[in-house]
Amino acid sequence: MILKNKKLVWIVLGFLVCANIVVWVVVKELSSSDLEVVFFDIGQGDSIFIETSDGFQILIDGGPDLTILEKLGKEMPFYDRAIDLIILTHPDHDHLFGLLEVLKRYDVENILWTGVIKDTAEWKEWKKLIEQEGANIIIAEAGQKIVLSENIYLSIIYPFANLQGQEVKQVNDTSVVAELVFNDVSFLFTGDISKKIERQLADKYIDLESDVLKVAHHGSKTSSCLEFIEAVSPDIAVISVGENSWGHPNQEVLSNLEQFGIQILTTRNYGDIKIVPDGNNFNIK
Ligand SMILES: [Zn+2]
Repeated sequence: MILKNKKLVWIVLGFLVCANIVVWVVVKELSSSDLEVVFFDIGQGDSIFIETSDGFQILIDGGPDLTILEKLGKEMPFYDRAIDLIILTHPDHDHLFGLLEVLKRYDVENILWTGVIKDTAEWKEWKKLIEQEGANIIIAEAGQKIVLSENIYLSIIYPFANLQGQEVKQVNDTSVVAELVFNDVSFLFTGDISKKIERQLADKYIDLESDVLKVAHHGSKTSSCLEFIEAVSPDIAVISVGENSWGHPNQEVLSNLEQFGIQILTTRNYGDIKIVPDGNNFNIK
């Protein structure tokens, strides 16, 4: 009798385990999307988090303060202390500062930046930390392609040449520009490039078309020239912007984007903007 009961217990247990596995697989199936891109509401600055369903994580810029730690805490489970790739578009405070703390707290495997010199304490701290990190350092240059998974890759399209060790006046115009491609969908990340670089890109590349454009330089009037907007012709324009005294985003930039029928999303109005491609559409959260 006891033996029989024991057998029954094992059968029930086995059934529960199987049922659990089925539920787990279904839930995982429902919740996983191939790619998620989050434009963090980081105040006046940039910080973008990219994650594939394979778990490849990229952080582009870190914003102007420590808000990034809280944002990463929401997107990454507490036990995940590693980031596959950090990209610093250019070493200005509103892009660089948050990354310093990220480097101290996370294990970063790859770091892609331009290597340009900026004479600030933050820049020196950055240099020291990336050396200590022991990460693989990649100096950004157009033509590089980083494969994230079978159908997802990141293409570096600017700077046109290696800028390592150079001291430049217009550090904004050294910003890494990268295109993230997933099947037929693409995102264009532009850092803080000005109209001058936008025109060069529009001239150089026959196909700049992207579905989602990270508007350059927080919607400043010094960026977003018409030729560039036309060449990229995005469906969605994301402006990463907070309270500021420069009048970002500029009214003319907004009306130019509207004129092309582009949907504008600003982090100041919407908070964190998560874009998940779904076929040829996007789920925006
Ligand atoms: Zn900026």
